[in-house]
Amino acid sequence: MSVLDLARAEIRAMQPYSSARMEASGGRVMLNANESAWAPPGDHELACNRYPDPQPAALVEALARLYGVRASQVLVGRGSDEAIDLLVRAFCRAGEDAIAIQPPTFGMYAVSARIQNAEVVTVPLAADFTLDVDAVLGAVTPAVKLVFVCTPNNPTGQLVPQADVERLVQALAGRALLVVDEAYIEFSDAPSVAPLIDRYENLAVLRTLSKAWALAGARIGTLLANEEVIALLKRIMAPYPLPRPCVALALEALSEAGQVSARAHIATVRDERGRMARMLGHAPGVREVLPSAANFLAVRFDDAAAVYQRLLDAGIVVRDVRRYPQLGDALRITVGSPDENDRVLDLLNQPAAEGRTFAEGTAMGKQA
Ligand SMILES: *Cc1c(COP(=O)(O)O)cnc(C)c1O
Repeated sequence: MSVLDLARAEIRAMQPYSSARMEASGGRVMLNANESAWAPPGDHELACNRYPDPQPAALVEALARLYGVRASQVLVGRGSDEAIDLLVRAFCRAGEDAIAIQPPTFGMYAVSARIQNAEVVTVPLAADFTLDVDAVLGAVTPAVKLVFVCTPNNPTGQLVPQADVERLVQALAGRALLVVDEAYIEFSDAPSVAPLIDRYENLAVLRTLSKAWALAGARIGTLLANEEVIALLKRIMAPYPLPRPCVALALEALSEAGQVSARAHIATVRDERGRMARMLGHAPGVREVLPSAANFLAVRFDDAAAVYQRLLDAGIVVRDVRRYPQLGDALRITVGSPDENDRVLDLLNQPAAEGRTFAEGTAMGKQA
């Protein structure tokens, strides 16, 4: 059996849209796509009057090199959110199939499933936020076509050991595709599981330029998977998903100079994460700082709602994660610049009443 047998039969059978750029490119006089012959104002050699390449080879190859896979195993989309959506639409029949997730985890898996009317099977993380491989496998009914595993997990920050990923992917062979979301892996000490896609056709890995590569605004996410899965998803993807300016920004980020800069920022975030975890651990009102391998910390407070409001009054916005199971007393705080982190620490180390004075006396709220 092939992993494609898990996908929707009608998707495998359908005739994909054939765009002008797919049918012919490379001519010198392009009169086949109803584009304007004139570049728009402010276009500095981007040629935005022309539709972009659906999957620009230079970007696909740069990402394949970066992630250590072949170009045929790469699909680039509008953030990894798009890849999540494409996977759910290609593998889950509405009203029949399901995905499996381990809450508390990233919300988009369930959102994409609900849009597709696919059921969401939940297997909560253990009390210490580790993933229970046997419990996940026990919950995988024949309806479950996709199992999402987030490592490091958002919002808890924990890594899933590679041995657990391998045990899952082996046990799921012929039953479901294992989708490992490594949005934050650059901030951890763990290697990516991407090299394993050569061994397991039912393994897919999500990567993104949104976090460690400072390009959240450009929306560049990557799915790494068996080339048959990649080819299937290309059939249902939007015709021109990658705007030319975004591709240019991504290529610049992946250049040698861009990589040096990204590595320096990752090192700073890791240092600051350690400092923040230590300092927050001693701050008044903090119950616990969960260990994190990502660029954020989940922090439990005696009164998380009050801390959230105090921070907000000072112009500091953190993520309220109290609605997530097992995190009813927690906030998720992104590791910022050293100066931004100092502001958080200063505020939390002040008695509550003084916090307001601090808020009024700072220009923080105007910085957004
Ligand atoms: C931020 C995030 C993403 C989304 O990344 P985009 O590439 O910006 O769509 C995916 N997965 C997790 C776990 C995230 O936290």
